[in-house]
Amino acid sequence: MNQVYESHHPLVQHKVTVLRQADTGVRRFQELVKELTMLLAYEALADLALVDASVTTPLDEAEGHLLTERVALVPILRAGLGMVDPIWDLIPHAQVGHIGLYRDEDTLQPVQYYSKLPSASQVDLCLLLDPMLATGGSAVAACNILKRWGIRRVKYIGLIAAPEGIARLHGAHPDVDIHIAAADCCLNDKGYIVPGLGDAGDRLFGTRMREASRIPEPKEEV
Ligand code: URA
Repeated sequence: MNQVYESHHPLVQHKVTVLRQADTGVRRFQELVKELTMLLAYEALADLALVDASVTTPLDEAEGHLLTERVALVPILRAGLGMVDPIWDLIPHAQVGHIGLYRDEDTLQPVQYYSKLPSASQVDLCLLLDPMLATGGSAVAACNILKRWGIRRVKYIGLIAAPEGIARLHGAHPDVDIHIAAADCCLNDKGYIVPGLGDAGDRLFGTRMREASRIPEPKEEV
């Protein structure tokens, strides 16, 4: 059975509030996504396995612990890309895969257009990264791809989730834990999370907001 972990850490709550603000510009938005991802990953990785290890300090021998699990980071393109670096900084030996999905306008189903994943035999834990868990269609499709590839243990890390997305991911993949900064009220008729933060990909990469959003152009930074 999966668990939904909504962080109640004051730093997370502060940063996600600033992230949501319509006038938070692109550079600050990128920084906040990184900072939030690092904080959420810190919580999500609290059960990583360790092995006892001895090291030699300049003064003596020290008993310690080292990570044993092989972690893979898999962002869903494109917004998930903004969440890779902060976890890679924490776990530099992690492998990074990519999954690209788009939504078919007729069927409204996610369609895979790209997938490059590390060998499943070299992965003990996969962190699936996507800031927004809206309908849950992409997250479920990505978990299907990962499991078909042979990856057995997956945790989802996102920033904001709608109840519909949580229920769908939970229903399809009850073994996948969900780590988020905030659970919002609902989806609007365009599939955007309300109140949410608008289009995470557009705000991360400075592309034009979709017309579904009533968010004004962010402040330009120089
Ligand atoms: N994707 C986004 O970027 N924002 C939403 O609100 C929903 C999906």
